[in-house]
Amino acid sequence: MSEMSRARTPESGTGAAVVVIGGGVTGLSAAWWLAQSGVDVLVLEKGIVGWEASGRNGGGATHPVSPLFREEQRLWPMMDEMLGYPTEFRPQRIRVALHDEEMEERLRGAAIAVDQGFSFEKLDRKTLRELVPLVDDSAVGAILSHYGGHANPQRTVQAYAWALQDRGGRIQQHTTVHDIELRSGRVVGVQTDRGRFGCDALVLAAGPQTAWLAARMGVDVPVAPARVEMIVTEPLPLMKHGGVDGGGLYGRQTLRGNLAYGGGPHEWLAAQDLRPARPVNSPVLRSLARRLYELFPKAAHVRVIRSWAGIVENTPDGRPILDRLKDPENVVVATMSSVGFGLSPASGRAIAQLVSQGHCDFADLGQLGLARFADLAPDWRTRSGWVAAAPRSDSVASAG
Ligand SMILES: Cc1cc2nc3c(=O)[nH]c(=O)nc-3n(C[C@H](O)[C@H](O)[C@H](O)COP(=O)(O)OP(=O)(O)OC[C@H]3O[C@@H](n4cnc5c(N)ncnc54)[C@H](O)[C@@H]3O)c2cc1C
Repeated sequence: MSEMSRARTPESGTGAAVVVIGGGVTGLSAAWWLAQSGVDVLVLEKGIVGWEASGRNGGGATHPVSPLFREEQRLWPMMDEMLGYPTEFRPQRIRVALHDEEMEERLRGAAIAVDQGFSFEKLDRKTLRELVPLVDDSAVGAILSHYGGHANPQRTVQAYAWALQDRGGRIQQHTTVHDIELRSGRVVGVQTDRGRFGCDALVLAAGPQTAWLAARMGVDVPVAPARVEMIVTEPLPLMKHGGVDGGGLYGRQTLRGNLAYGGGPHEWLAAQDLRPARPVNSPVLRSLARRLYELFPKAAHVRVIRSWAGIVENTPDGRPILDRLKDPENVVVATMSSVGFGLSPASGRAIAQLVSQGHCDFADLGQLGLARFADLAPDWRTRSGWVAAAPRSDSVASAG
């Protein structure tokens, strides 16, 4: 693929030089980076862009354990300007601890960022209350990270999509890919419910559906889908820091003042049951509301006005898969294991480089390759306890 042509070739026909399956943040960002460097790119999306996890998440952009962390942190503050549209990105994060063990966990997490040159400060109860008026003395402390942040998922999806189109990229919505065409060890096109689209290279960024599509090429991508929920409250006066989390919850205060929070439990899904818009589940919703009240006791009076469910894609080790395959050799597989929103500026850039030059020159993607799962037991989901079942109150989601 490194010798891939930028323009459409006779092989790509009605398609594009690069076809991207999936109009979530991963596929859109990759397509935008490709279009910026002059590549003819087409995104095929079975619904509307951002309709799945990419438009339904907590908006967190703080992933110190990822090899893409530095790039995530470098790019976010520039994204509005680079895209030309607002993402509502706000820097920094306050991580509240409701008990001593949680404080230790916060400090351990921060140490990983410090090792990479980032800084944080410890907040005592009094300073925390000044910065976050919704907490009370039940919080034992917090850290304020001078890295990380959060953005508005819907705005961000929109921004990627518009910016991509501004640079000549194309998006075709309501187009479901149901097969991938191989010839002599290369993908030459995809079959959809709207006909065939040829391509010289393929990016497979279909979230939890990546596993099913990869299997069409004989490639095993271990992903366990799970359903998680979020709640949104009435608006409250804006706090200085919108990115406050704790007590196992992730989320943010929106620029309009609403508290938008999620935090499990995971409800594991069977691979064939990936309907994101299923109604929310009232015990899960109640658990989220209770935990939000524990985090922000001073917000006990506000009402929950909205809730939704989304599907997260989980790999066995919780890390994304970002890999250019050896066979077929013109394919990049990208599925983000519940951390794809925040990483999307960086993952998109990495994917674009994997497509056009065969390697990523700003991060070591070695630990994100599919090869790490070569010895995975076929029953890994069962062994992990990640089988489709009724919700369990003791398993807390890690999305975010
Ligand atoms: C409630 C919730 C909270 C979360 N919180 C955070 C957070 O705070 N921070 C963070 O970084 N991450 C968070 N995540 C995870 C994050 O949202 C995902 O990792 C990320 O959105 C994945 O993006 P994606 O583009 O790879 O996949 P998706 O958003 O799943 O997009 C894949 C797209 O592919 C399309 N598609 C699938 N199959 C086909 C097909 N056959 N043909 C055509 N199109 C197809 C789908 O319709 C979909 O639009 C959260 C997720 C949820 C659900």
